[in-house]
Amino acid sequence: MSTAKKIGVLGGGQLGQMLGLAAIPLGIECVFYDPAPDAPARVAGRHVCAAWNDRAALAAFAESIDAITFEFENVPTESLAFLAGIKPVRPGVRSLELTCDRIKEKEFLRSAGVPVQPFAAIASDADLDIALATVGPHGVLKTRTLGYDGKGQRVVRAAQELAPAWNELGRAPCIYEAFVPFDREVSVVATRALDGTTAVYPVVENLHTSGILFRSIAPARVGDALSHAAMKHARSVLEALGHVGTLALEMFVADNTLVANEIAPRVHNSGHWTIQGARTSQFENHMRAVAGLPLGDAGAPEFAAMVNLIGGVPETAEILAIPGASAQLYGKSPRPGRKVAHINVVAPTRDELLERLARVEALARRANRLA
Ligand code: AMP
Repeated sequence: MSTAKKIGVLGGGQLGQMLGLAAIPLGIECVFYDPAPDAPARVAGRHVCAAWNDRAALAAFAESIDAITFEFENVPTESLAFLAGIKPVRPGVRSLELTCDRIKEKEFLRSAGVPVQPFAAIASDADLDIALATVGPHGVLKTRTLGYDGKGQRVVRAAQELAPAWNELGRAPCIYEAFVPFDREVSVVATRALDGTTAVYPVVENLHTSGILFRSIAPARVGDALSHAAMKHARSVLEALGHVGTLALEMFVADNTLVANEIAPRVHNSGHWTIQGARTSQFENHMRAVAGLPLGDAGAPEFAAMVNLIGGVPETAEILAIPGASAQLYGKSPRPGRKVAHINVVAPTRDELLERLARVEALARRANRLA
């Protein structure tokens, strides 16, 4: 079977940029489709700058490549279906459809045998009481679609707070889910190849600030049984979706049990550490999968961590003065709340990692400007 040499990527953000950089040594050329003239990925391949609903531009883009993937989930479904009629889209439309709606996503997770907390859909006033009866008075109300980095969400602490929270979210179709009093947030990044083989990265623990990922540590400080269960859940999700490419399964750890939060059907911020920390990065494995190539080893020879730079970047020399640290700047103009770069750090022991990480975090806290 011939493998894809030219891959179209929908979205040209930093994820696209890192996919494009990983593709180069594989002899794969990327073409990025993104309406933003200054899309960060334009440095790593040709950039088609056109609207998501521009059929002529979409058709010309699809004709110029062998296979299509995405780094941005909010591509309109009709545009994706249109493209899928011209060239193979990997992962498939199903991966996107089941993960862009939080209700469909939770139902899918449950059917795949991955534990989720009680949840209910809210579309009318009548649903509010039913949702409270199902979920209880302590929950999180989230818009079903288009939420990210904690946007479009309200925490509810008492029954009477649910209706006002729904009004604040513009009475949009929502999911109301039980609040999980978690000890840790973890994720598993994993890739599935075209022939069904999988590569699952070690479990990562994540810390968020103001709803945005601040740092990830790999491997997570959880026991072996929990770690195996988390990796098994990621494999189940890959299989049940028939996914081709990389995805991330985000979960809460509460009372030593796992509760799934959401799936990102693409390379993920909590997998950026794999660039220096794993034998094959999540980006390279994604490109291998989309191209129809065999996957690389997802093992991590050292301890690793990643810290996001949000709204500001320290001097590169300051970052590189920390042993084991490397900088990845996306070339974006800094704005408060905008992810502009990340720092990866690796070390041979956990203690050394935590020591180096403390220095990295201090730098980042000084540079970061949250919205
Ligand atoms: P999400 O957009 O679903 O990833 O949510 C953003 C962040 O809000 C998560 O990473 C958690 O820190 C927090 N969060 C979301 N849902 C819940 C929940 N059901 N219980 C507790 N915390 C939550």
